[in-house]
Amino acid sequence: MSSLQDTLNEIVAEMAAQTERGAVASYIPELGKVDPAKFAIAVVGNDGEVASAGDADEPFSIQSISKVFTLALALGRVGDQLWNRVGREPSGTAFNSIVQLELEHGIPRNPFINAGAIVVSDVLLSGHQPREAIGEVLSFMRTVADDDSVIIDRDVANSERATGFRNFALANYLKGFGNLNHAPEMTLGVYFHHCAVAMSCLQLANAGRFLANAGRIESSGHSIVSSERARRINALMLTCGHYDGSGEFAFRVGIPGKSGVGGGILAIVPGVASIAVWSPGLNARGNSMLGSIALERLTKRMNWSIFASR
Ligand code: GLU
Repeated sequence: MSSLQDTLNEIVAEMAAQTERGAVASYIPELGKVDPAKFAIAVVGNDGEVASAGDADEPFSIQSISKVFTLALALGRVGDQLWNRVGREPSGTAFNSIVQLELEHGIPRNPFINAGAIVVSDVLLSGHQPREAIGEVLSFMRTVADDDSVIIDRDVANSERATGFRNFALANYLKGFGNLNHAPEMTLGVYFHHCAVAMSCLQLANAGRFLANAGRIESSGHSIVSSERARRINALMLTCGHYDGSGEFAFRVGIPGKSGVGGGILAIVPGVASIAVWSPGLNARGNSMLGSIALERLTKRMNWSIFASR
């Protein structure tokens, strides 16, 4: 049987041979500058095994993957009260869609669509200046990744602020429904900055370890969330982590995953491993095209789908 490292090497070679790589997101101008040929994958096992291939040390903009971590922080702050302001159902609509907000009276369908993540940012802002809330997110990312070199890319945050008209519309709409406690520009300041966290696949796979391991990081001894909370975050990643492509991702890959428009995906094999993959080109649903294909091949070859019979 081939080793995990051999499997990752094979996948990198297969992805290099793909001609169709999807389109790099350009609605945030700074993201449009990224080389579409980049590809990386990293796996950190609960047993401590680390394997990676491709550009796995190169930081990229994690974008919406950060919403997994802000959700964990907000749940730590206000507990299940969060669910009075955000739902837990797949949206079946695009990441930046506004239509359901009106139908559901300003309650976003889930914490991973932009509207839901903006409410989560609003929770993190309570009792803080935006700078402090942003600092809290960054230090959480550094703790879970066990790496103080993780940074926020200010050029990306500024680029998104300059062109974030839809997110301003969502925040204003939430405010109009009474589901935002701060000024839209303050809450969005937190949102744009957490989306602009830059991490490599190795850092990101490390950051996901607690979700694969019942809320704990064995190597550092940190308990990040309860095992129940880790299980529930994984459930939300499976059902809502790829926007209107979530059903397809569950069908093909079969594990919880969260994508970002920077082309990254964090995927969790509960009880087994945390995986990060990066390929900047996106498919029609705004999810990494080759990242999804690579994960499909990896979970198939390792028999990691949570739906497989064991
Ligand atoms: N910062 C991005 C936005 O708000 C996140 C979208 C994503 O990664 O899916 O548009």
